Amino acid sequence: CGIVGYVGSQSALDVVMAGLKRLEYRGYDSAGVAVLADGGLAAAKKAGKLVNLEKALVEGPLPTGSTGVGHTRWATHGGPTDGNAHPHLDNAGRVAVVHNGIIENFAVLRAELAERGHELTSETDTEVVAHLLAEEFSATGDLAEAMRLVCRRLEGAFTLVAVHADAPDLVVGARRNSPLVVGVGEGEAFLASDVAAFIAHTRSAIELGQDQVVELRRDGVTVTGFDGRPAEVRSYHVDWDASA
Ligand code: GLU
Repeated sequence: CGIVGYVGSQSALDVVMAGLKRLEYRGYDSAGVAVLADGGLAAAKKAGKLVNLEKALVEGPLPTGSTGVGHTRWATHGGPTDGNAHPHLDNAGRVAVVHNGIIENFAVLRAELAERGHELTSETDTEVVAHLLAEEFSATGDLAEAMRLVCRRLEGAFTLVAVHADAPDLVVGARRNSPLVVGVGEGEAFLASDVAAFIAHTRSAIELGQDQVVELRRDGVTVTGFDGRPAEVRSYHVDWDASA
């Protein structure tokens, strides 16, 4: 439902939680976050309102890091439980992914992954993406390339945003038939399903096109098609008043 990604020098958790609050108006049934810190990945997720997640973060704080993702979920596959909330991780706990939309062919992908020894623990269509990304990242060492390879195997409408513990200071996003907007700041960058999530930080935005993958780093963004070709992007200034 709502997606936020951040890389920069602020606390990613603070930026992502504030962004998720800005997206609350869309409605959701669960929420979660993941941050890269100290060479690892830490995540927290909870069914219910953001306040439940906030409580969980007080009880079990995450280490501070400056790269992270967050999600508010509107369940389509699997009930609104803690386990089905996003982010979803691979078995090694090195990659985290959040997703809006529906992956139509998840059952086939899930069966293939199970055959290759992956243990899937949720009832979502989303979880397959974490496992597929982990496989492709092991093969390529490149999270954006891994995302392109995975997206070419997915059917349906989706926005995906991922981080990997072995790819620090990087957030990778992808979209097909589902919105995803980039916010470009000074030494920081944002990704969100809606500009409302980052308008407090920057009004310089890039709208991603169909079947595109974006790499977000502190010093800029790179956009390619799912085929790996450099993509033309449309930059614009967000001038509507989002403070209300
Ligand atoms: N289909 C996914 C799920 O049920 C994502 C739902 C959403 O867009 O929030 O977990």
